[in-house]
Amino acid sequence: PPPLLEISGLRTHFTTREGVVKAVDGVDLAVGERRTVCVVGESGCGKSVTARSILGLVDRPGEITGGSILWRGGDRTSPVDLAKLDPHGEELRRIRGGEISMVFQEPMASLSPMYTIGDQLTETIRLHLPMTKAEAKDHAIAMLRKVGIPKPEQRFNAYSFQLSGGMCQRAMIAIALACGPGLLIADEPTTALDVTIQARILDLIASLQESSGMSVMFITHDLGVVAEIADEVVVMYLGTVVERGPVDEIFHDPKHPYTQALLDSVPAMGQGRGQRLRQIRGRVPHPSERAEGCPFHPRCDSAIAGVCDTTEPPETVFGPDRTARCVLYTPGLGTPGNVPGDTD
Ligand code: SF4
Ligand code: MG
Repeated sequence: PPPLLEISGLRTHFTTREGVVKAVDGVDLAVGERRTVCVVGESGCGKSVTARSILGLVDRPGEITGGSILWRGGDRTSPVDLAKLDPHGEELRRIRGGEISMVFQEPMASLSPMYTIGDQLTETIRLHLPMTKAEAKDHAIAMLRKVGIPKPEQRFNAYSFQLSGGMCQRAMIAIALACGPGLLIADEPTTALDVTIQARILDLIASLQESSGMSVMFITHDLGVVAEIADEVVVMYLGTVVERGPVDEIFHDPKHPYTQALLDSVPAMGQGRGQRLRQIRGRVPHPSERAEGCPFHPRCDSAIAGVCDTTEPPETVFGPDRTARCVLYTPGLGTPGNVPGDTD
């Protein structure tokens, strides 16, 4: 079956006085039914902007300038292109929080301090589901219980500032899942939490996914989290997807030098195991300072002078949903010793 969510050639650009910032510049990404896709990369690589583009939540002056975001969820018989919908329009508002929900890194910033947790939950529920006030309240309390909030009847009347960060994140997840979305987009939802709470939130998302059958798009820079929850991995660098594939293949046979460098920077994992912890040389430049040729070339140890600094690497397809964008895999461009199939 075609994927539930299928992003093709997505471009989200910010037009500023200094010029056009291409935060997302030609992203392809698919999420299948019941799958968990992790989008990884350092900060500033366009992960969040990609996620926000799906739901029309890109901040001004950003806008989608190209590509498509086909959504096949809900009861529809033919896909809807979310990229073509008015970000402030009724159709996207119905999809947002109903069919597709999003959880952000900062639960405090997403929850209103003016309304109780219960008010915010019932408002979302009644916006998307045909329920009376009393039914919505029962459902809200059931959701709070489901996400493991103790004494949900009391917490229903609490304000976010009366709850811990972990409890607020649980409340956010309760709101996100209250209407039974087909897709949950989670943008670094555990980054601000301590390790124990983080593990509990990940378990919670996994078990809710199991019971509801939803798909998850999980954005993170934490490869430990990826190893734990991903079916598939999408690696982003400077607004483009540089590699994607099943999680085992990404960890055991990373093709792209950026993916290899990310894995090498984690001591207990991948090829860095037993070796000295390495930092990726340099840092992610601002998208407006994106280099010519391969965007990674100023930091790449395998860069070929005269090729990588002039040629935008084409995508090499290694198998279904297994691609990388690096000239080392392009016959005639990379060095002969580095053609596909010749990796360890
Ligand atoms: Fe490195 Fe060149 Fe491949 Fe870019 S195209 S990742 S610079 S080897
Ligand atoms: Mg981000």
